[in-house]
Amino acid sequence: MRPPATIDCIDCGGRCHLITPPDDTGRFFAGDLVVYRCEDCLDRWDLIVSDEDDAQGDGWEPPGF
Ligand SMILES: [Zn+2]
Repeated sequence: MRPPATIDCIDCGGRCHLITPPDDTGRFFAGDLVVYRCEDCLDRWDLIVSDEDDAQGDGWEPPGF
């Protein structure tokens, strides 16, 4: 499962960037806590990674951090 790199800020509608690094294997797992920071209002948003599209996530490769 890969969380989106950016999400829409709930407060201001700006772009929130994922600031939580993946684990040693470059992946995220369902249930992980990931943190986003809004580039406009600098609010922090905590999300739990879901496994909704886990079926598609098996072949995902990290984009080369
Ligand atoms: Zn914001």
